[in-house]
Amino acid sequence: MNEIKRPKTPLIFYYLIVLFVIMLVNALVMPRLAERAVQEVDYGTFMSMTEKQEIGKVQIQSNQILFTNKDNSTVYRTGLMDDPGLVERLYASGAEFTSEIIEQASPLVSFIFSWVLPIAIFVILGQFLSRKMMDKAGGGPGSLMFNMGKSNARVYVKSSDGIRFSDVEGVDEAENNLAEIVDYLHNPEKYREIGATMPKGVLLVGPPGTGKTMLAKAVAGEANVPFFSMSGSEFVEMFVGMGASKVRDLFRQAKEKAPCIVFIDEIDAIGQKRSGGSQIGGNDEREQTLNQLLTEMDGFEGNSGVIILAATNRPESLDPALTRPGRFDRQVPVELPDLKGREAILKIHAKKIKTTGDIDYSVIARMASGASGAELANIVNEAALRAVRDNRKAATQEDFEASIETVIAGYEKKSAILSDKEKHIVAYHEIGHALVAAMQTHSAPVQKITIIPRTSGALGYTLQVDEGDHYLMSKEELENKIATLTGGRAAEELVFGSVTTGASNDIEQATKLARSMVSRFGMSEDFDMVAMATVQDKYLGGDTSFSCSDDTQTKIDAEVIALVKQQHEKASKILADNRARLDELAKYLYEKESITGEEFMKILNA
Ligand code: ADP
Ligand code: MG
Ligand code: ZN
Repeated sequence: MNEIKRPKTPLIFYYLIVLFVIMLVNALVMPRLAERAVQEVDYGTFMSMTEKQEIGKVQIQSNQILFTNKDNSTVYRTGLMDDPGLVERLYASGAEFTSEIIEQASPLVSFIFSWVLPIAIFVILGQFLSRKMMDKAGGGPGSLMFNMGKSNARVYVKSSDGIRFSDVEGVDEAENNLAEIVDYLHNPEKYREIGATMPKGVLLVGPPGTGKTMLAKAVAGEANVPFFSMSGSEFVEMFVGMGASKVRDLFRQAKEKAPCIVFIDEIDAIGQKRSGGSQIGGNDEREQTLNQLLTEMDGFEGNSGVIILAATNRPESLDPALTRPGRFDRQVPVELPDLKGREAILKIHAKKIKTTGDIDYSVIARMASGASGAELANIVNEAALRAVRDNRKAATQEDFEASIETVIAGYEKKSAILSDKEKHIVAYHEIGHALVAAMQTHSAPVQKITIIPRTSGALGYTLQVDEGDHYLMSKEELENKIATLTGGRAAEELVFGSVTTGASNDIEQATKLARSMVSRFGMSEDFDMVAMATVQDKYLGGDTSFSCSDDTQTKIDAEVIALVKQQHEKASKILADNRARLDELAKYLYEKESITGEEFMKILNA
């Protein structure tokens, strides 16, 4: 896309320029003017002019003599000398003595230069700039002046590198949904004839990096119409009222350019639920901006040819007024890609790099379960970078697999040296996870175990990979997952008789899982199918908010603790029963630092 961006120059900048000009006039022009008005001459010249009767008016001051020529057009000045006959000679020459001071520069002239002129410059400049701005309003390039409160909407003009639907993979549902809008923009008559109006606003919702922004651009690319793009945070200005005026300006531009698409990215920045005004110091500016947006959306017809797209990761946080019919009445979910989608996204991004050609993308897609489109794009790039680091000309399967770890678990940090004892502990800890996982049915097979520390802070990790995609998890699977999470700590206890801080992340995950089982999935005996919690920001990892009495909360806590404890005991028992295998595997991992799932299974089944 050709992005033409209007530079955003603060108004104060232009005021400073004007101020500078005024100062320049005063500093440079004024003294010259005075100099020109009063000409400095030597006493000889004065005397000879007196002799030639060329003097008009004269005034003798205490330290200088001011005089003019006959037609009073020039004022001269000369120093005062001890000259006794001067007055008589002047009188004889016909000079007119004046008590009225011959001003060095006429007061009128100096007034004009120090006041009238700067103000005139100021006014003319202002008018010129504002006219220029008017001309360019509508988003053309180069409109720059006085645009505070003007939207910085960027116009994407169709160009050869425009994003198309074919560039976005793994979100077919969303694509189909948006294809209708493209069709409408292509032949609105078809819709008008039957009386159908397009939804005014379409809200793309989904986790970060799933291609929402990309989809919006693709709609513009396909429809071949102007594309105004603005991020929600750009509306929120320092000064109250500016955001609202930006919204107004954006919609004015859009109406002029219809049919067109207005895209508001990260709309939650302005679209959050309004506080109701009772708050002291509430975010007035944001609310005003939101109100203006609501007004503008009401202000035009559904078939005016302006389609508003918006994207957010936090649909729950949006003000209900935004999502009611007539505004953003259509929500298009843009979810994380499934196995097939991941494979397609990997392939499309891999086209941009050189590969050995024998890459099995389905294997990589399987390993990158849960990765977003953006993360997959990153994985491909990391693979290419890894190949370059090793001085190879093309990325290999191995590069891809290694880059999954880089992207998902942070960079390998070979320089951080673990002490021997620590390495032993981490090896047992990781094998603990893997062994518990392997000894239970209903748990994903181990793909890789490593004790090479990552920059993310993890000292090691065990990668489990599901076969295919998983949408439902049974109670047993969840319990086994908790057992697996406690397996690391259980191994430490069993072998070293003490515990370390290494399990903090496991503990956190196990607790979260157990809490969800009790409070959200209805997987405990006491609460049956009663939801005690709701998830907020489910696309951003999800924070649960609890909606129950303190009493119930206490009971939930008790159940959660019991659940985790039970699974912890189960894990300990599994490890104790398989102590010989645990030792053997831990030793192997300690030596190799990184082992594959196959190696693991071979030793396990030996
Ligand atoms: P979002 O707006 O949902 O957070 P973006 O649209 O900004 O995500 O995606 C960021 C980058 O990730 C894109 O530029 C693209 O390279 C890659 N990407 C994300 N989703 C997809 C997808 N579905 N297909 C292809 N590439 C994708
Ligand atoms: Mg985005
Ligand atoms: Zn662990």
